[in-house]
Amino acid sequence: MTRRSPARFYDPTGARFGLPTYPWGMAPGHLMTLRQLAACGKRPGGQQVVAQVLWHSTRHTGSAGRVRVRAAYLYDVRLALPKRVPTAAQRAALGKALRARRICPDCGRDAGYVLRRRWGVCNDCADRQEIAA
Ligand SMILES: [Zn+2]
Repeated sequence: MTRRSPARFYDPTGARFGLPTYPWGMAPGHLMTLRQLAACGKRPGGQQVVAQVLWHSTRHTGSAGRVRVRAAYLYDVRLALPKRVPTAAQRAALGKALRARRICPDCGRDAGYVLRRRWGVCNDCADRQEIAA
């Protein structure tokens, strides 16, 4: 086994890494990353990270061009819960909050876009103020 062999990341009991560890592509199917969970409509549901995948990154090299070890944390899909779907009231509140951020305090119009926080007014009003200044 060479120093860069992916086999050095095979540690299913976690004896070496403190957490069950697999090389890229070798994790059991019931272990998933957050992104994989989300892709099937699930969330970890309060469980801790149960395992990790380690690999040598060829894209992200550290200082002196040394190969860096990258990690992805895995959760057990059997302990995962369905993703929370916002209730109608939550969606309504969110819509209202977003709309409030589109109303220009100067001209009182719905600008049709979220106002730039830096200006706090719609682009038209910002332009007018620019010209007046
Ligand atoms: Zn305005």
